[in-house]
Amino acid sequence: MKKLALHWQILIGMFAGVLFGILAAQFNWNQFVLDWIKPFGTIFINSLKLIAIPLIVASLIKGISDLKDISKLSQMGGRTIGLYIITTIVAVSLGLVIVNIIQPGKLISEETRTELMNAYVTDANAKIADAKSKQEQGPLQALVDIVPENIAAAATDNRNMLQVIFFVIVFGIGMILIPEEKSKPVKDFFDGLNEVILKLIDLIMLAAPYGVFALLAALVVESPSLDLFIALLGYAASVVLGLGILIGVFYPAMVRIFTGKSYPFFFKGISPAQLLAFSTSSSAATLPVTMERVEEHLGVEEEVASFVLPIGATINMDGTSLYQAVAAVFIAQAFGLDLTLGGQLGIIVTATLASIGSAAVPGAGMVMLVIVLGQAGIPEAGLALIFAIDRPLDMCRTVANVTGDATVSMLVAKSVGKLGEPKAKDWDDHYPTIETKA
Ligand code: ASP
Repeated sequence: MKKLALHWQILIGMFAGVLFGILAAQFNWNQFVLDWIKPFGTIFINSLKLIAIPLIVASLIKGISDLKDISKLSQMGGRTIGLYIITTIVAVSLGLVIVNIIQPGKLISEETRTELMNAYVTDANAKIADAKSKQEQGPLQALVDIVPENIAAAATDNRNMLQVIFFVIVFGIGMILIPEEKSKPVKDFFDGLNEVILKLIDLIMLAAPYGVFALLAALVVESPSLDLFIALLGYAASVVLGLGILIGVFYPAMVRIFTGKSYPFFFKGISPAQLLAFSTSSSAATLPVTMERVEEHLGVEEEVASFVLPIGATINMDGTSLYQAVAAVFIAQAFGLDLTLGGQLGIIVTATLASIGSAAVPGAGMVMLVIVLGQAGIPEAGLALIFAIDRPLDMCRTVANVTGDATVSMLVAKSVGKLGEPKAKDWDDHYPTIETKA
């Protein structure tokens, strides 16, 4: 019998997890889920994160040294950053248009507002303190943070991904500049390492259906009451509508227009990464799978994918920026503040920058939202209003973040003549079978 395709297995895992979580909450098995099921989800996410840094190092060094020419690197770099900024601005603007049309903040009653503020004030304060410590540094701190003082120390924390990328790019440039016979052994080593890591991703993905089951079951058990969700439905619907337009219309249209690849081709190729982004709420944890899908199923050559995607996972967060725009205006509306056009344009700038500064981990977008609120003169305590529903929205915005990165990688690949036919013929090729060498 043919094995069920991976995306179906993951989807079944997700639904079964949610169902199990609901049952567990009904029968009061919460502690059992937290003690005996949640750890498997954590193990699954950890194993993905475990290979993120080695993957970036190996594949980026291979990718850059394959370029053989620095002008190609700067051409690709310019296009990547340019496209990332454009897609983010589109996302924020879309969010602003939607939240101004739906006006979800006006649907919140005085009573619900007080209830939410009381329930989440402590959580909100923790995020505000987090954001404040970031703000206290000078204006150029973000730039200073890119250059690590010690590469071994930088590589010990996945949040320093940008520092590792910086070092690896410089290292790759060094390799291009020395004679080929000298750089060859280094390149061969990293080529081999890259192959090993890609195989590890295959192995980890075999556990994906069980991993997402555990993640979602624990999430349902830990989530707050349904009443609060309902009160925030208008806000959640605005965010989800915006993200839906990005994922379902904007990205595939860009792919179609600029690369000529069809809707089904794009979605078939990227969907396992989307499902994983949804289950883990982390672009960084999803990165290994995004890279593999884009290379093997969307036809982006490795030297482009290994450059564009790790940078995208850290700085390109279209979903996050859209959410920040909607959330900021929603909070302003709920407090009865009217934002001027200038104020809203300010949100475009700060949400774009804040999404660049958000780490690719669960909940990071909310910390940076504090900065957007501060700049726009909206009370930061309003964060308490949206806490209850942040996790599900985080899951959705992470899907948009990952899809946006994949889209830009296709566009950049096309523009530098590196978009070919996918290596994998079958949709599910690569993952479920572990071929052993004869
Ligand atoms: N969880 C998001 C990501 O990893 C970031 C955020 O918006 O919180 O892409």
